[in-house]
Amino acid sequence: MHKKKDNIVGETLMFMLKTVKSEKPSLFWLYILKFAAEFVPTMFAIILPKYLIDELVLVIGGAPVEIHLPKIILCAGLIIGIALLANMLQNLANQLIDVQREWFNQYFETELSRHTMAMDFEHTEDPEALDKLAKAKDGMSWYSGGVAGVLDQMYNIIKNIAVLCGVTVLIIITCPWLIPVQLISLVLITILNAKNNKIEAENFLKLSKMNRVWGYVFYQLSDFRYGKDIRLYDSADMMCEKADSFSDKQVECWKGQQREMRPNNMWINIVNALRDGMSYFYIGFLAVTKAITIGDFQMCVNSASNLYWSLYNIVSSVQELHKRCSYAHRYLEFTAYPAAMEKGTKPVKNGEHTIEFSHVSFKYPRSENYVLRDINITIKSGEHLSVVGLNGAGKTTFIKLLCRLYDVTEGEILVDGVNIKEYSEEEYRRLFAVVFQDFQLFAFSLRENIALADTPDDERINEVLKLSGFYDDAHKLEHGLDTTLFKSFDEKGTELSGGQQQKTAISRALYRNAPVVILDEPTAALDPVAEYEIYRQFNSLVGGRTAIYISHRLSSCKFCDRIAVFADDTIKEYGTHDELAELPNGIYAEMFSAQAQYYVNCNV
Ligand code: ADP
Repeated sequence: MHKKKDNIVGETLMFMLKTVKSEKPSLFWLYILKFAAEFVPTMFAIILPKYLIDELVLVIGGAPVEIHLPKIILCAGLIIGIALLANMLQNLANQLIDVQREWFNQYFETELSRHTMAMDFEHTEDPEALDKLAKAKDGMSWYSGGVAGVLDQMYNIIKNIAVLCGVTVLIIITCPWLIPVQLISLVLITILNAKNNKIEAENFLKLSKMNRVWGYVFYQLSDFRYGKDIRLYDSADMMCEKADSFSDKQVECWKGQQREMRPNNMWINIVNALRDGMSYFYIGFLAVTKAITIGDFQMCVNSASNLYWSLYNIVSSVQELHKRCSYAHRYLEFTAYPAAMEKGTKPVKNGEHTIEFSHVSFKYPRSENYVLRDINITIKSGEHLSVVGLNGAGKTTFIKLLCRLYDVTEGEILVDGVNIKEYSEEEYRRLFAVVFQDFQLFAFSLRENIALADTPDDERINEVLKLSGFYDDAHKLEHGLDTTLFKSFDEKGTELSGGQQQKTAISRALYRNAPVVILDEPTAALDPVAEYEIYRQFNSLVGGRTAIYISHRLSSCKFCDRIAVFADDTIKEYGTHDELAELPNGIYAEMFSAQAQYYVNCNV
């Protein structure tokens, strides 16, 4: 359901004001300084020339120079002095506001990243959530101008109301008929501007999606990590064509927007010309008939222009404020994106843990097909389980469910007899150290990549590096543990080999010291014997902790207590190596005999 626009504006304004109050209240003082530096000189610039001109006219008309010259000099001095001082103060206030503007831009980028990382994993694959994220980013940054962009409009409204009040008094005293002329032209221009804003807002929605798709293609093209695949599959031209076609669509969208706005812009110019013509005619008539002095004439012209522009600025700032708040509100909508998962609060008890899948079935969000059906398995504390099956059998999905990256569709997963939905998310996740097939290392130091959120302790890091067999190589790197991985931000960064990356990921899992460790085929690129070796070594490293090893090969089966064979969306066979190898026509027995050649030398 769509919220009313007023609510959106009110909510966004409250949010902005609260954020400024809590993060940088000095921004309010800067706007007060800006107000003083803009409002006071504006009023003086309207009033002082009247006195200057009237004095000059008197002197030209034959009045004694010695009486009027000091007044002329005083007026001219005040006009110049005030303008100079105001200019300095305005520059100062604007510069300081710009610094804060930048600070708030960074602040919201960080906050948005924080929200993105904290949101439910399944949203990372949800096109609607990704669209909302893109809109939140665009909306809070250049579309709304962020905090300062919104406060600028509030400031404009307040300042122009003050100027409006001032000049209205002056006009009522000297040339009252100017007021309806200005008002009528303003109403017309407001209507035309509102039409333009509507066109712009409609295009924002279209462009936001296009920008995201274009950004994706552009990112793939420029990210060197994709370079291999792009080159080997000769896909650079195809990607460039895709990027070009999105660019063309963007340009078309802009052109369409300009086309729609053109007639409105033409009418705005006509109304402006008519208003100015009528105003000059009226004030000129008053001056010629001597109803006002020449100084008054100048003040009236100046006031009329200020009346119109202050009214125009108020209306356009209100419209702009509405528009900017609607864009910035996308940020609030994203941060309030409903959680897909219930969040429990129960603490996880210390000590041994039993894991139980009870009649678990699962299909991925927005998918019709079950990937897993009626999974029943109990993993006791300290047990080493090998999960095998062909590619696509659902092994990784089984781990994702256990780690609660997704919630089960049917059935329940229990840890120590408690449904995992009831546990505090943070505590529950600390139970696991997982190395996924597509594990990610970051462009941080080696030390940070291993410790991540934990406090880095070099002694322990070296210990796990020794266990994973990466210690010697790691210390041969130019900066040891301080070496940055990848060259994205540090030209002295290093590109680790595939094997070294795996060892780093394994070191990270060991460093976490979690009660349940999981290897999900991070070794898929290796040959079966090398993979067997890594699993064997890892198995001795995890010791008495619960361990789950996933493979579509049988590398890990020999040293595991139990083996679960996934096929046809469920666990087809379950037992020890000896039990399963004996099953007549068993899947495991068949896989084993097909792959046995690899493991002969490994004594499997
Ligand atoms: P395995 O680890 O045994 O190779 P997976 O658990 O990765 O298998 O995948 C099981 C099935 O679920 C496959 O058919 C795969 O295409 C599908 N699948 C995996 N991830 C997703 C996802 N995020 N959304 C929809 N389907 C998925």
